[in-house]
Amino acid sequence: MAMPRTGKQGRNGQSMAREGVWEYAPAPESRDVVRIQSRYELFIDGAFTPPRSGRYFPNVNPATEETLSEVAYADAEDIDRAVQAARRAYETVWGNLSGKERAKYLFRIARILQERAREFAVLESLDSGKPIRESRDVDVPLAVAHFFYYAGWADKLGYAFHGRIPRPLGVAGQIIPWNFPLLMAAWKIAPALACGNTVVLKPAETTPLTAMLLGEVFQQAELPPGVVNIVTGDGHTGAMLVQHPNLDKIAFTGSTEVGKQIQKAVAGTRKRLTLELGGKAAHVIFEDAAIDQAIEGIVNGIYFNQGHVCCAGSRLLVQESVADLVVRKLQRRLARLRVGDPLDKNTDIGAINSLPQLRKIERLVAIGVQEGAMLYQPDCALPSRGYWYPPTILTQVSTAHTVAQEEIFGPVLSVLTFRTPDEAVQIANNTRYGLSAGVWTNKGSRSLEFAARVRAGVVWCNTYNKFDPASPFGGYLESGFGREGGWHGLAAYVEL
Ligand code: NAP
Ligand code: MG
Repeated sequence: MAMPRTGKQGRNGQSMAREGVWEYAPAPESRDVVRIQSRYELFIDGAFTPPRSGRYFPNVNPATEETLSEVAYADAEDIDRAVQAARRAYETVWGNLSGKERAKYLFRIARILQERAREFAVLESLDSGKPIRESRDVDVPLAVAHFFYYAGWADKLGYAFHGRIPRPLGVAGQIIPWNFPLLMAAWKIAPALACGNTVVLKPAETTPLTAMLLGEVFQQAELPPGVVNIVTGDGHTGAMLVQHPNLDKIAFTGSTEVGKQIQKAVAGTRKRLTLELGGKAAHVIFEDAAIDQAIEGIVNGIYFNQGHVCCAGSRLLVQESVADLVVRKLQRRLARLRVGDPLDKNTDIGAINSLPQLRKIERLVAIGVQEGAMLYQPDCALPSRGYWYPPTILTQVSTAHTVAQEEIFGPVLSVLTFRTPDEAVQIANNTRYGLSAGVWTNKGSRSLEFAARVRAGVVWCNTYNKFDPASPFGGYLESGFGREGGWHGLAAYVEL
């Protein structure tokens, strides 16, 4: 029941009540829907097997710092076993299977994932710190949609590449980050399998659990052993996978820094490469925009999901005539965001994924203030344990500021102003990245012109952070190359 409260609650894992805010009663999702194992092994050749390394690393819940379980650490020998299993599966089963048969498995995986959606959502929130509202309404349904979508393509590849004969590449090594653990696994695995490739997947060190649950789904779907193998570990494990000589393709999503290392490691080999890297999106608000709707778009673009989104609208470009109004409204809205227990259905902002990530956010915001930005954070008490950062606005930022150039990957918005559409484009393009952008205006011509001139793989008009498996996603410049999703996503996994 809703009750008006005053003051801070400060209870660990609870949404915080603030002065004058009507607080909701806690509405936690039950943890009991998922059984977390005390130990997770590697998923190789269709079975969960202990690592040859004999090593395990702890996995923590970033909202509480509790250890959830321990996870196998794959070394070079384990990776070799996984690659060999994938090669065998490619040569003896999957590479020769008809598209129609491959589609059946992908449909089956999608349906099982759908049936087990709650389990996946709760596990994702526990492991990553993201609010259950996001994992339940965004991550899991989109992951399911990707499997359904690419299942539909598996027997129609001849139509996708008209007049040409598409063949699978072979074995793909796929490395994914911690911000959308299950969804990134789906983005990578579904098109690879649809095109007849087999896979060795390496999830991020801090968020391997939903990938391991996906391993169970593959067993349930009776996917032939070795078609997908999952090796857990850290950055070193990822580097060893990249260097394995018996791979035909590397697909990587993560930071630009690691992407560059991978590009060097792959240069001169036969491996194909796609890179989905960082971003510093411009979210542009023109004076004729529907301001209240734009405020919701901005909040969705940077604060939900703790700003742990590669395409987050982290630079807000507001036309000068409405800048004060927009910032004032945004501040009011921020004061009403609920930061706390990721499993609470009312939570807007969950936990920061890891302590190093929290420290990085703190460091970059401090640099922003040092360089002259004005800091706004609502008065909100954060839980005493776990990794938390309040929603933050930095105003009086200029393009030369570090916070206008570096990816912060946290709930931090840098606000810049502009006077003319030309200036908006110029500021938006003043970045080494080019992943995404957003534009709010009531003039169709203005949004189309902006979309044509901004260098970004995705441009959202009068909305933000909307995804669909049929729509390609990917970047320009230091945001990487190659596209995932849609017809384009198939092209990354076939030889024509
Ligand atoms: P990251 O540090 O680059 O890590 C990404 C993955 O690479 C993790 O699995 C990581 O393993 C592994 N890795 C680390 N060092 C490696 C190496 N030398 N060789 C091979 N693999 C290595 O990135 P992150 O901090 O996890 O993720 C955040 C970044 O991802 C942000 O920059 C964000 O913009 C980007 N991102 C981009 C997209 C997109 O579609 N463009 C989508 C989501 C995220 P460990 O975790 O075990 O260290
Ligand atoms: Mg974790």
